Amino acid sequence: MATKPLWATVETPDGIVIPGPHGVSAESELYPGISSMVAFIISGGEAIMTDPGMRTRSEYPSGVLDEVCGILDRRNLRLKYIVQTHWHFDHTGNTRYVKERYGAEVLCHPKERAIIEDPMLATRPEYVESFGGSVEEIAEDLNLEDPSAVLVPEDTMRGHWNHPVGVDRTVEDGEVLEVGDLEIRVMHTPGHTPGHLSLYNPSSESLYLVDVMYWPTPIHPHPLGKADEQIESVRKCLALEAEYLFPGHELPRSGRQDTKDYLEDVLVKQLQLERRLLVLLDRHGTLTIPELHAETFVIKERYDYGPYSLNCVHSHVRRLLQQRKVARVKRDDGQVAWAVTEEGRPPQGASGVVGGHERAMEEVPLLKGLVTGRE
Ligand SMILES: [Zn+2]
Repeated sequence: MATKPLWATVETPDGIVIPGPHGVSAESELYPGISSMVAFIISGGEAIMTDPGMRTRSEYPSGVLDEVCGILDRRNLRLKYIVQTHWHFDHTGNTRYVKERYGAEVLCHPKERAIIEDPMLATRPEYVESFGGSVEEIAEDLNLEDPSAVLVPEDTMRGHWNHPVGVDRTVEDGEVLEVGDLEIRVMHTPGHTPGHLSLYNPSSESLYLVDVMYWPTPIHPHPLGKADEQIESVRKCLALEAEYLFPGHELPRSGRQDTKDYLEDVLVKQLQLERRLLVLLDRHGTLTIPELHAETFVIKERYDYGPYSLNCVHSHVRRLLQQRKVARVKRDDGQVAWAVTEEGRPPQGASGVVGGHERAMEEVPLLKGLVTGRE
């Protein structure tokens, strides 16, 4: 089958990126041919790379390994660090190869280390337990009879997700990585995964925020995916007022106003979902998470995003529970369901429709606080 090139590399103020969009290409190329964005921050003959992406073009139509190596070889760069933003396969597929070929150090956040070194951890209950949750409780929330259905199936992991790599060093929020003359700031931006990292170069005002932008997010059930952490991470990114944004799966953005609008849109999506959940519960009484999911993500099957968007709903319902806006109830039919509380009840006659960016900005109270600096 003839394939067309999916991406053009983009010269950036810091070097070069290979964007990694999902969904702008033919559907047949979406899976398993997806890769994340690969970013090179280059100075004085050295480079930092975020996420080496996924595989070769001969294996997958959108594989990027040849391009990654081509950039390093043609420019004769010393690859100092590979910053692994998180453990997902489209970000880690090439890491071991690139680490071994170029002798770079692999860095990640402490909360991501265990699963980067052993991705099969995602198939075991202890992974959920290590973040204070239990598969039984999540299964109950989702009305699944078999708790093991909460975990990523072993076949899926073996087929696509299992790319273990040794981590050389963990890095925390606020640490600085030197490359040539540049000082690159490490940011812990959890939510999408517990140990997700972003990088910021203050000298070019470039923010490599990767899957902080991903929607639906969180894609793992609470507490692996935490909606409150995700919202806080977007907020942290907004506070930088970056000139350039480099997302993991969309095209790079530039211009302070554009990057601000774009990040605010990510928040609008998160908070509108919560608003719709409350309106649905107010109109229909108690609903289960699968019922709420069916109402809020109607295109969920199309890109096989079913489990991702279901988990996204779970994570947001759990955030609403924490805020006491919903209550967890056992329905007469024995199902675990959710009901809106007085605290969460939307104003009378409220709908889930918030049209347009400007209107959404006015109507979502958290956003108002964000923009004006007030809660
Ligand atoms: Zn991801």
